[in-house]
Amino acid sequence: MEYLPNIVFAIALIVGIGFFVRNVKKLIRNIKLGKKVDVGDNKPQRWKNMARIALGQTKMVVRPIAGLLHIIVYVGFIIINIEVLEIILDGILGTHRLFSPIGLLYDILIGSFEILAFLVIVAVTVFWVRRNIIKLQRFIKPEMKGWPKKDGNMILYIEFVLMVLFLTMNAADFQLQQMGADHYDQAGAFPISQFITPLFDGLSISTLTGIERTAWWLHILGILAFLNYLYYSKHLHILLAFPNTYYGKLKPQGQFNNLESVTNEVKLMMDPNADPFAAPANPDAAAPEKFGASDVMDLNWVQLLNAYTCTECGRCTSECPANQTGKKLSPRKIMMDTRDRLEEVGKIMDANKGEFVSNGKQLLDDYISREELWACTTCNACVEACPVSIDPLSIIVEMRRYLVMEQSAAPMELNNMMSNIENNGAPWPYNQMDRLNWVNE
Ligand code: SF4
Ligand code: SF4
Repeated sequence: MEYLPNIVFAIALIVGIGFFVRNVKKLIRNIKLGKKVDVGDNKPQRWKNMARIALGQTKMVVRPIAGLLHIIVYVGFIIINIEVLEIILDGILGTHRLFSPIGLLYDILIGSFEILAFLVIVAVTVFWVRRNIIKLQRFIKPEMKGWPKKDGNMILYIEFVLMVLFLTMNAADFQLQQMGADHYDQAGAFPISQFITPLFDGLSISTLTGIERTAWWLHILGILAFLNYLYYSKHLHILLAFPNTYYGKLKPQGQFNNLESVTNEVKLMMDPNADPFAAPANPDAAAPEKFGASDVMDLNWVQLLNAYTCTECGRCTSECPANQTGKKLSPRKIMMDTRDRLEEVGKIMDANKGEFVSNGKQLLDDYISREELWACTTCNACVEACPVSIDPLSIIVEMRRYLVMEQSAAPMELNNMMSNIENNGAPWPYNQMDRLNWVNE
């Protein structure tokens, strides 16, 4: 019986981490459904981008208030969780405050964790007020109704509760230390939780031990539960922001990728010496399976990683000129739809022993409408605004490419323009020979 808590703790730890690993595997499998893309270039620049954007949060502070609060929550959450290491070791070994023999450094660490925990509580409260009381425009757009709204709030509640549990645990511990209770040796500094301890005045040692142990257990079980909640939440970005910024686009933002097969065709057309009936230079080259994207499997894996990384912050949508002028397009929704469809595909595969069986749906039309796609001005404002290097425009362009090249389904104005370019070498409906006629008018 003496070891029962250690055994229960070890089981909880194995189950929590086991589910997390299972979800990570699923995540990697889903991302790998995307097409291969070469992102192995310029590694120094990629590391720099990751350090600057994901670790340094440089794009977050473009909006200073939200940026500062986010940095507090981010730093607080990461640093306070260093203490989780001590909690895990205590749980397994049956010790209490295992690291306390390091003395002054331990006091400084616990003291700074407490200050950060308090700042996190303040920051998540402000975030909650911005979402639910002030109702900032970007948090009440149509795509934020239902689960995305609940998810955003849920994350704030969980962080709030975890920090309160941490401070309650410390406050009870501090009180027990003052009372000279067994196993509660003087250790740590408690600049915040010392203000909670007066609430415990008059409580017996056994009651206080119960409070301390309950807060301790709920804190660690809450962290394990939160770890597993990540997969189902936009909060996955706390992990994926790092690879996503590493694999982010390095080319100038206005530069689109060309399809090699089309480039070769155009070169052939433009070459006056080319023999259109000549045998292909590389007869073994495989014909492109499909131009553009109508479903998630047609996108590349970086675009799918982008979808899982989206924080749903709406900075892209609030900068989007199409959205600002009342069009149906929201770049945030493009990313959310891509993720939702990818999740649907993943679930179908789970239910069919890893095989994808069509359910008659696809990303185009069932999730993202043509109206949304054609509302985009390709201005790149969304790409510029994204704090984690997501490129919604690349998905829009791939889907438009599919509509134009596979379905000839561009809007009439575009079809006319493209026919004119093909026939007349210019977007206007005039023969090249007549271009200078205006001079004589
Ligand atoms: S590129 Fe398209 S989606 Fe992005 S901000 Fe511009 S108009 Fe909006
Ligand atoms: S794409 Fe980027 S800017 Fe847009 S909601 Fe997602 S994380 Fe925010």
